Amino acid sequence: MKIRVGINGYGTIGKRVATAVNQQDDMVVVGITKTKPTYEAKIAMDRGYPIYVPNENISAFETANIKVAGRIEDLYGKVDVIVDCTPGKLSEKYKAEYAAAGIKAIWQGGENHSLTGISFNSAANYMESWGAQFSRVVSCNTTGLVRTIYPIDKEFKVVNGYATLIRRSADPNDSKTGPINAIEPSVKVPTHHGPDLQSILPWINIQTMAVKVPTTLMHVHAIVLELKSETTTGRIIELLEETPRVKLVKSKDGIKSTAQIMDLARELGRTRGDIFEVVVWEDGIKVAGNKIYYYQAVGQESDVIPENIDCIRSICQLEKDSRKSIAKTNKAMNI
Ligand code: NAD
Repeated sequence: MKIRVGINGYGTIGKRVATAVNQQDDMVVVGITKTKPTYEAKIAMDRGYPIYVPNENISAFETANIKVAGRIEDLYGKVDVIVDCTPGKLSEKYKAEYAAAGIKAIWQGGENHSLTGISFNSAANYMESWGAQFSRVVSCNTTGLVRTIYPIDKEFKVVNGYATLIRRSADPNDSKTGPINAIEPSVKVPTHHGPDLQSILPWINIQTMAVKVPTTLMHVHAIVLELKSETTTGRIIELLEETPRVKLVKSKDGIKSTAQIMDLARELGRTRGDIFEVVVWEDGIKVAGNKIYYYQAVGQESDVIPENIDCIRSICQLEKDSRKSIAKTNKAMNI
């Protein structure tokens, strides 16, 4: 029998998780929640998702001719697990409701590690969420950092890490957030991204800084790692080539920026033109003695989506071997 999944918060992340769940053969979306009768709600109805809404908004949906399956609370009785993709500040309320209903739940990186006490990355700590009631998939930036730092640390041991995050200021469908013509440093340094990475890899000594720039496409990370032992540029390239959900591209092939990466995703026929891998510029990798320098790009709307699928398998105890879950998810999602 398939694991029954509910999506609470059908926005940027929620709608992508819903698509990915229904691409798998061991889980199915049994309902999504919407708070307003927007175009996204209409498309969700056309896609056949039962829609659960706040009690006080049912009439607004009915007026907009959007079929309502029930109140948000009614969804809880129908699911094995909720993937909570609501915006911040709602987690305590919903956590209490999921706990009372006795259902499992997965939150996203906008929430703190302390909410669940367990954070998730498919390759690095899949089994920590095994059978848990609650887990949290770390943010897009942290997922991106863990994807490349974990395999490098495993082989060479990272003694110190430094990363500067050049962050997109808004998602492509967001016309309210900025800056639109400025560069904004995060002045509270080091930023929270280092400690967030440590919620998965607590032994890694890493410091991060961040600036927001006027783009909607992707984040870019400029990373320097000091290793315990020396290596070569060739070995790091080989290692990242072998790592699932890491894609190497070359500037000299014409992929000079995030613009061409997003074009590549569209050319590959990915759903919504998404890029699920962390993209590393192969010709931007440089090893000097025990230091590695590299650049990577992170699709903020999409890199966490396959991790949510693996996290469902871990907390619902569907597959014990993380490599098998990763391979199954990747195959189903055309990664
Ligand atoms: P979003 O604003 O695109 O979507 C949130 C959805 O929740 C919207 O559909 C909204 O209508 C709905 N919602 C609002 N109030 C609600 C309520 N009371 N009950 C149920 N649903 C409600 O947000 P998002 O970008 O998808 O972010 C969701 C989570 O994912 C956050 O924790 C965020 O930090 C994290 N995240 C976002 C990104 C990103 O770049 N967008 C990347 C990784 C992780």
